[in-house]
Amino acid sequence: MTTGAKRDYYEVLGVSRTASQDEIKKAFRRLARQYHPDVNKDPGAEAKFKEINEAYEVLSDEQKRAVYDRFGHNAPGSMGGAYDPFEGADPFSTIFDAFFGGAAAGPRTQRGPQRGADLRYSLRLSFEEAVFGTEKEIEYRRLEVCPSCRGSGAEPGTDPVRCPKCHGSGEVRQRAPLFNMVTVTTCDQCGGTGFVIPIPCRECRGEGRVRHLRRITVKVPAGVDGNQQIRISGEGDAGPRGGPHGNLYVALDVQPHPLFVREGNDIILELKLNVAQAALGEEVNVPTLDGVEKMRVPPGTQTGQTFRLRGKGVPFLRQQGRGDQIVVTRVVVPERLNEHQRRLFQELARTFEAETPGDRDEGFFGRIKDAFGL
Ligand SMILES: [Zn+2]
Ligand SMILES: [Zn+2]
Repeated sequence: MTTGAKRDYYEVLGVSRTASQDEIKKAFRRLARQYHPDVNKDPGAEAKFKEINEAYEVLSDEQKRAVYDRFGHNAPGSMGGAYDPFEGADPFSTIFDAFFGGAAAGPRTQRGPQRGADLRYSLRLSFEEAVFGTEKEIEYRRLEVCPSCRGSGAEPGTDPVRCPKCHGSGEVRQRAPLFNMVTVTTCDQCGGTGFVIPIPCRECRGEGRVRHLRRITVKVPAGVDGNQQIRISGEGDAGPRGGPHGNLYVALDVQPHPLFVREGNDIILELKLNVAQAALGEEVNVPTLDGVEKMRVPPGTQTGQTFRLRGKGVPFLRQQGRGDQIVVTRVVVPERLNEHQRRLFQELARTFEAETPGDRDEGFFGRIKDAFGL
């Protein structure tokens, strides 16, 4: 859609049509340094510098860029081919005026390109992927600018024309005779856009957008948790009439772990001990997120006692450091004994009988006795 001598803005900056604002800014800075008239004394440098500036002015502004993507250097409709909308000091106000009837017709924001819808994607992660972070390739469908009409909605080779009803203003003014009041309503023929499409694009049926399969890589940072979501800007639907893309929200669905329970940045693990380990104490092997660790269980360990393995928990999201692993012990009484074990327990029992149970009964029953004054 370029007219004669005018070069495509993307070409001028040497960036792709999908270039990010960052890429555009970088390309502009590089070229501006190269062609700045103070530096570059070549005869063509000044013209080139102006061209670069003009391209940057449009492409660095998402709204101007969207309109440019849609119409290129051409103004549609009644202006005809002889009119160069970019003639003059501020090319962009000119193109806006040409399309939307100028600022006098009402606030531009109402009829300027609208942002596309946000999309949501549910991403399933294993427990470890959420803890340590990962990269996932995802695939989803989103509305993209129609490649055939480049978003204009008009069949290639044809152009949108100025709306005959509102003459491009997007608004219809009506005077109520009795009170001499003027009511302004959005033009129903063009939906407020100020132009109509005589021959709709076959690919998108005049919508300017088509649904496409999109594949992107999602970077999941370490330390995320379920019920969190990652916002990926600009990966939602394309906006109607050349508007910018909405965002993609990736909701995280973290699977439970067979051993660990997560509580914020701490990991809780229940550790079973047999009666001998609990009574005698032992150095035991404890599973952690980083593999098996040795942990000292002291003699006389009870059910429900907690031990803290510092720094063995979940990394803090976008920060240094990690939470802890909390080991909760559970003493397991054997359900079945072999003959030898039975004899040993009986022998053990006789040693306990030597102590009078009442003396040691400071526990549950002891407290009840105290409470009732027995
Ligand atoms: Zn199309
Ligand atoms: Zn209209």
